[in-house]
Amino acid sequence: PGGFLSVRDLQVTFSTEDGPVKAVDGLSFDVDRGRTLGIVGESGSGKSVTNLTVLGLHDPLFTTVDGEILLDGKELITATEKELEKLRGNRVAMIFQDPLTALSPFYTVGRQIAEPYMKHTGASKKAAWERAVEMLGKVGIPNPKERARDYPHQFSGGMRQRAMIAMALVCDPDLLIADEPTTALDVTVQAQILDLLKDLQREFGTAIVFITHDLGVIADMADDIMVMYAGRAVERGTVDEVLRTPRHPYTWGLLNSMPRLDSDLATPLEPIPGTPPSLLTPPSGCRFHPRCAFRDRVGGDRCVTESPALAPGRSSACHLDAEQKRTVFAEEIRPR
Ligand code: SF4
Ligand code: MG
Repeated sequence: PGGFLSVRDLQVTFSTEDGPVKAVDGLSFDVDRGRTLGIVGESGSGKSVTNLTVLGLHDPLFTTVDGEILLDGKELITATEKELEKLRGNRVAMIFQDPLTALSPFYTVGRQIAEPYMKHTGASKKAAWERAVEMLGKVGIPNPKERARDYPHQFSGGMRQRAMIAMALVCDPDLLIADEPTTALDVTVQAQILDLLKDLQREFGTAIVFITHDLGVIADMADDIMVMYAGRAVERGTVDEVLRTPRHPYTWGLLNSMPRLDSDLATPLEPIPGTPPSLLTPPSGCRFHPRCAFRDRVGGDRCVTESPALAPGRSSACHLDAEQKRTVFAEEIRPR
């Protein structure tokens, strides 16, 4: 049984001058109402592409999309632009790192929140304005009645981010896609915005897909995690499972490259050696093999020739056996 958002075997291929680039290669996941899926990975892992595709925001001239994207049972890949436009801002909303890509400098903040509400609900101008003021209050803008008449440049960065969230949530979307929404903000504002999203989720039962490279943010926000590498999911599970008992060498690398709360912060971080591969010519077998320190523990050249599968539910796509995954983490990774 699929979730509220159900993605099956998604393949996204860009045609480029150098040839086809498979940005997403066989991705499946589910998100239920009231839950948050955190998608983690380095840039180029396909995490943003996946979500632009869900929203139908890819360029159809240069992009081929295969597989299934079901939102509440409705297929989005074959949906018309008109149908998608109706979904966006109504049932599905998004927030990005940079609020200025979402807010126009030429209209008041209140008008930009009121307009999608009028458009999607048929509310009167007056009712929509009142709703905009209410939403600005909900996202923690002081004096929302007056501030609604301000233009975006009269808001601070953190307030613009809040205004964008108010705009995204004004129609009570069923699904919210948040792509690095707090990366540009200072830690205090970031924590406030994450709390706000959690409150709004509790109130509206929104399903959230939260995209980030920051495992700390994921630990705070998500119920479930999917770790992506080079266009594929390499590990998934609940937040507890993936962060406490990670089972994939790439996830181990991500954890080792971030500061740990329980250890001396002066300990130098270890970045994962190497760089993510080009998706024009992805590595054979396990795509992580050129960077993996554990492939000699797997028999023969299996890591180079055979692509490890990711099962539904708690799973890690790696040829190490279950016992190796457990003991390597417990004895070699965690003590570091
Ligand atoms: Fe490393 Fe092999 Fe596992 Fe890939 S399959 S992560 S190369 S051990
Ligand atoms: Mg991105």
